[in-house]
Amino acid sequence: MPATVPALQPVHGFSFASVAAAWSSQASWTVLDTGFGSGHTFLNLWQTWRAHAHKPGVLHCVGILSLAEAQALASGLTGATPHSLFQDLASALAAQCYDLEPGFQRLLLDGGTLSLTLCVGTPAAMLAKQDMQADTVLLAGAQDWDKWQIKALARCCKRGAGVLFAHGTHPNPELLADAGFAPDAEGLPLAVYNPRWQLRSERKGAGAGAGAGATADAAAPGRERAPRCAVIGAGIAGASVARALALRGFRVDVYDAQPHPAGGASGLPIGLVVPHHSADDSPRSRLSRQGTRLMLQQARQLLLQGQDWNPGGVLERTLGPDGLAEDEAEVLSQTGTLPATTGWARPMDYGDAPGLWHPHAAWIKPAPLVQQWLDHPHIRYHGQAAVHTLERASAQWLLRSAGGLELGRADHVVLANASGSADLVLRTAQQLQAKGAAGFSWVPDVLDKLRALQSLHGTLSHGPMPVAGSGADHTSAWPTFPVNGHGSWASGIHTESGPHWYAGSTFRSDAQEHADIPQEHAANFHKLQTLLPDVARAVWPQFDSQQVQAWQGSRCVTHDRLPLVGPLQEAEQPALWLCAGMGARGLSFSALCAELLAAWMCGEPLPVENNLARSLDTRRPRRTRAAQQRTQAP
Ligand SMILES: Cc1cc2nc3c(=O)[nH]c(=O)nc-3n(C[C@H](O)[C@H](O)[C@H](O)COP(=O)(O)OP(=O)(O)OC[C@H]3O[C@@H](n4cnc5c(N)ncnc54)[C@H](O)[C@@H]3O)c2cc1C
Repeated sequence: MPATVPALQPVHGFSFASVAAAWSSQASWTVLDTGFGSGHTFLNLWQTWRAHAHKPGVLHCVGILSLAEAQALASGLTGATPHSLFQDLASALAAQCYDLEPGFQRLLLDGGTLSLTLCVGTPAAMLAKQDMQADTVLLAGAQDWDKWQIKALARCCKRGAGVLFAHGTHPNPELLADAGFAPDAEGLPLAVYNPRWQLRSERKGAGAGAGAGATADAAAPGRERAPRCAVIGAGIAGASVARALALRGFRVDVYDAQPHPAGGASGLPIGLVVPHHSADDSPRSRLSRQGTRLMLQQARQLLLQGQDWNPGGVLERTLGPDGLAEDEAEVLSQTGTLPATTGWARPMDYGDAPGLWHPHAAWIKPAPLVQQWLDHPHIRYHGQAAVHTLERASAQWLLRSAGGLELGRADHVVLANASGSADLVLRTAQQLQAKGAAGFSWVPDVLDKLRALQSLHGTLSHGPMPVAGSGADHTSAWPTFPVNGHGSWASGIHTESGPHWYAGSTFRSDAQEHADIPQEHAANFHKLQTLLPDVARAVWPQFDSQQVQAWQGSRCVTHDRLPLVGPLQEAEQPALWLCAGMGARGLSFSALCAELLAAWMCGEPLPVENNLARSLDTRRPRRTRAAQQRTQAP
């Protein structure tokens, strides 16, 4: 055991000395805690990890707990020993534990180097939804486990994983042995997963495969070279992926056609991050809540509140069938009512119309966030670097410009260039075919999914807040929070030329219509009249005198309106990846997609249940939205 490991009091029966010795100088370490309970053990583990001189670059903890335990976490874990030892850690954890629900939720702690995935439900249900391989298992409450649960546990273990038992936990030794767990020779209450049979898949992530031992200090003598990854596209999708990979020890080069980051849709002056909701709590709704939680964490950590974001909640106005947004109309037609998810949305009337209040929602300026994500010592930005094709060159990717110039080389490439990914992939496919790149296979159907990407253009109208006494000064009666539904509205947003209001946005598949700016403003004004008639009257003079400014951009939309995340290459260890198709909700999806992509690339626990992850996966069956609706119809 390294001398730096502090003498720890075992908390609830676990001492982490043996764990800390095993994880020394590893790139990452994964712990599965089947009895997360009130978080005592986790706090002890966190403290051990923090204090360790040779700690792994990233620590992943997956904790299984009941809904009652999850709800208690938000209260701050106060009380007697041993929490007082870890009060600051307990408070940091509690701050992120608001409104936990059944299923998985990923919390990022210590700047994202510690990921905690809280899995709320029974151990049997939560183990079945994992796609992970633990290095260490903390086994609690397993005396009632049957052979199926123990087999499910075994499926979550790496070969060689150590199992520590909590005091009072006595799983059936025969069932353990049958599932491949052997008692450890040291005689502690400890077992090791070491089955006699060969495992079908020994998962290796890109981090492990391409650069084992890649830690934050990967250049240190004796360590393998850190894996290099090129990320194409410096919007919120690319920047969040770059950050997630840099935290995992990758050296990341980010290439963008624009001179500065956030030169595409992510140059949006402000956007709303607000969860989607639906009558059946669809995968899209559940994913958007997880994505919103992660995005709010990132904003809290990296942005200046009041200037670059504000987490004050968002009101979704529901104005009757004519004024409803598409998603809401769908819900209303199915149920006759709009659903509210406890904690995440509650009914709130505003004026004469019903609405839903989303307390965990915010406005965010995406460009400062992109800048902050890219601001990491392992990330280099290359502007005015439009990537035209990718070539294979001795187990690396070579990135070329349209003029044939070599822009860079990398072990892995992530395409995060929104609609631009389709052409780039199709050119690359031609190139590989022409050069007869033996052994390269595309994920089935993925080229068709890329061909189906659509650009939906949009305009956001904005103008200065009316000056006090100007006659148009009704701002004291304006909502102090953003409002969305049929279009969206936010006001009092800090800009270099004083506070502005924003009204949006249009959706156009036709680029010519999109180019007609007066028509775009008129469309936004019309939406505002429906959404907030009094506000529309107050800003009408600015529209009328053509003082309103326009910001324009294009959203990249997939065949089923969910992002496409995962490998492009069909291989045991793919080297070509995609993170695109954020649609109109990039702020709710990008941080989650980055976590998911990094998890797949590095063989880590997933941030969401495996069935939800599949609905974002590039390998999902290609079903269009219309086809989904047809199969759901009675
Ligand atoms: C009017 C409007 C309003 C919106 N409002 C909201 C909102 O309120 N909330 C919300 O969540 N979302 C909103 N969105 C959507 C949001 O802006 C997008 O989902 C998000 O910005 C997409 O991020 P991205 O990184 O995938 O794409 P982008 O930000 O477009 O980034 C792609 C980057 O790839 C680069 N690129 C392309 N091809 C290449 C190449 N071959 N080589 C190098 N670089 C390349 C581009 O230059 C670009 O910088 C809105 C969008 C619009 C247009």
